[in-house]
Amino acid sequence: MNINISKLITEKIEYVDINFDFILDDSEFLKDYNIVKSSPIRVLGKIYKESDSIFIDASFSGKAVFQCSRCLKEFKSNISDNIEFYIPISENKVEDDSYINGHLLNLKMVIEEALAFSLPMKVLCSEECKGLCPNCGQNLNIDECNCDIDDIDPRLEKLKHFFNEDEEV
Ligand SMILES: [Zn+2]
Ligand SMILES: [Zn+2]
Repeated sequence: MNINISKLITEKIEYVDINFDFILDDSEFLKDYNIVKSSPIRVLGKIYKESDSIFIDASFSGKAVFQCSRCLKEFKSNISDNIEFYIPISENKVEDDSYINGHLLNLKMVIEEALAFSLPMKVLCSEECKGLCPNCGQNLNIDECNCDIDDIDPRLEKLKHFFNEDEEV
């Protein structure tokens, strides 16, 4: 998703319109933010040239299915935010930069960064999510289980020793 901004840089035009659907298909990105699937993300806005920068003024909106990082339940949520992004330029020349190569602006990268900034680092179905019992796997939001919290799984107990021994080395 590269946008040619040569006319903007030479000031033949005042702005470049942004109006497209961004397909979020970067599997690494989806995994990092617990996104199971996402609708196309509508991106609307304009790219301007200012005296010392290229300014991207836009907004994005879409819907996604996330997986709660505590209880693993899938839930839908909206994704939307504004993008105000400056890329410095000097003397009408773009310093070769990761966002702009020649006169091509890598809009995908800008949008992914804006998305990353607006998404929570830890995805939760709700702030109060109780998660899963570490012993039996019961979803504690739905029902309690009969596990005794102090009753550590013998396999985990072994693992604990293993790590302790490891530390002493
Ligand atoms: Zn949850
Ligand atoms: Zn349990």
